[in-house]
Amino acid sequence: MYEYLGVAILFMLLIGTLYFLLTDIYTKRWVHWRYIFYNLPLFSIAVAYFPNKLTSLILYGTLLAAGTSAMPLLLKFARKNRIFGDYVLKEIAFGFSFCTVMIFLQVLTNWLSLGLAAVILVTLLQFAYLLVGIIYLLYYGIDGDLLSSTSLVVLYQTNKKEAISFVKNAYSVPQYCLIILGLIFLVIALFAVNASLLIKAPVTMMDKAVLIAATFLSVFNTWSTFKGSCLWNMISESTVYLKALKYWQLHKKDDNCSAALKPQTKQNNNVFVVVIGESQTKDHLGAYGYQRETTPWLSEMSKREDFLLFQNAYSCHVLTMYVLAKALTESSQYNNKRFADSVSLLEVAKKAGFKTFFLSNHEKHTTFANPVALIADEADSSILTSDGNQAINTYDEELLPQFAGFKDEPGNKLFIIHLKGSHFEYKDRYPEGFNVFDGCQDIYTEDAKRPEKLCQYDNSIFYTDYILSKIYEIATKTYQADGIVYFSDHGDAVKRDQKHTPGMFGFDMTRVPFWIYLGSDYRARHPQITNRLKEKLSSCFTNDMIYDTILGIMNIETDRYDACQDLSSAEYAFKREDLLTMNGTVRIVEDNGEMQKYQNKQEIFA
Ligand SMILES: [Zn+2]
Repeated sequence: MYEYLGVAILFMLLIGTLYFLLTDIYTKRWVHWRYIFYNLPLFSIAVAYFPNKLTSLILYGTLLAAGTSAMPLLLKFARKNRIFGDYVLKEIAFGFSFCTVMIFLQVLTNWLSLGLAAVILVTLLQFAYLLVGIIYLLYYGIDGDLLSSTSLVVLYQTNKKEAISFVKNAYSVPQYCLIILGLIFLVIALFAVNASLLIKAPVTMMDKAVLIAATFLSVFNTWSTFKGSCLWNMISESTVYLKALKYWQLHKKDDNCSAALKPQTKQNNNVFVVVIGESQTKDHLGAYGYQRETTPWLSEMSKREDFLLFQNAYSCHVLTMYVLAKALTESSQYNNKRFADSVSLLEVAKKAGFKTFFLSNHEKHTTFANPVALIADEADSSILTSDGNQAINTYDEELLPQFAGFKDEPGNKLFIIHLKGSHFEYKDRYPEGFNVFDGCQDIYTEDAKRPEKLCQYDNSIFYTDYILSKIYEIATKTYQADGIVYFSDHGDAVKRDQKHTPGMFGFDMTRVPFWIYLGSDYRARHPQITNRLKEKLSSCFTNDMIYDTILGIMNIETDRYDACQDLSSAEYAFKREDLLTMNGTVRIVEDNGEMQKYQNKQEIFA
């Protein structure tokens, strides 16, 4: 009994140490610890079959530590990124259950007297587990690039010839020899330790029954935890993306469009910047009347005549991918065009002679963001600050130097910048210095379900305000931009702490900020557009019409344009009662300012 307890405590100590050494942003969520605790009794039962516990603990302790730390250490030290505790725990949970299955496999094969074959099998499986981490390191060693779903997509798309030359140029012959020798040494060492392990056989019927049941349970645990691991994520995200890409290429027959700049526009250096906010609800912006001054910069700017703050903008859905698939393409709730049949803003802008740039602080290949990734791929240049990696936390400020980095590019330019904004978890969205609203007991948080979350949300709005001021500075000073358009993809239900879950829909998730800046030179050249926009500050609008509105502002003439959906056009005809959200299933006119109205109407979205 004490043996079991001792082994369990020792291993938990190791797991705790690994977690604390690798993590920068700790999690309070129990869910990821769950699998580790499930696995603990199974592990203790398994280890009891080794008379020499120390050797087995050293073997599996090393395996666990080496298998779980390669990627976090690379991100931490090579990339200087801050690592999420959730990510580390998922890796540990998988490594721990994998080790347990390996021990059961050793006990079972020993019981069945498989001898040498069993040692070889276990050695190869352990080696395969370690090889994943080794591949991360080797891949990093090539040119400092980290393996991610994005790089896997590139690898899949590489043809044989390119692949061979990639491998050839990656390391020199002596380096390859050293790597192979190292790998051979690793296999021999694992084999030697495995062969030296003494293993008991189950004696009583009870022992045998427990052994078999525990083996099944630990296989189940390993499979469940594998689906949370970094490796699985990388593989599944990249394959889902490739499938979507294939579908897109097969179905997108109609991407022909004519596009050109209208004659009265200046011939060169037209620069437009589109900034997409994330989970920003209008109700929490000082500039829109929130009592807490969360947006000092925007409040100041909105007093100026070159700044147009629109009062009645709504999102066309509450999920990023649904919104952006419509906002950045022809497709809208009102024209029923399918995503696959629609041209994107980037395609049209390119046809009209713009160089296009897509900068994002989001992971590219999450299963949910694929339409956005497909759109982003059309840009001449696309930059992902998070490198497609969900393990790390990058602040939006990392986009700023990237945005400023194209100042020597000549010609017309369109930038699309996708911020991480106020995406949940709010507290991870801003650096320490922006933690200004922490008085959680005041009037602003009175009716909030989770006052501390509301304060963190407001901090993230405050930080985004700072980021937007910097983007404005770069856009106007470095690029002399003609226009900046900002809108949020959707909002969040902050007070009732429902994030932007479609099943918990409320209009608080769809009321979004929307503003446009127009440079003085632009306003002088296009007084009509400017005046029409000024007249529409209180017009109702949904952000799936951003596509046509931006084409209107950019003065692009194309056969893929609908003036009725262009806020800057005289033909814009949408009234509040015409507008829809949630992919056309909810009428905006039903927003009477109450937040809870749709809370119990989940069946609409089932
Ligand atoms: Zn979003």
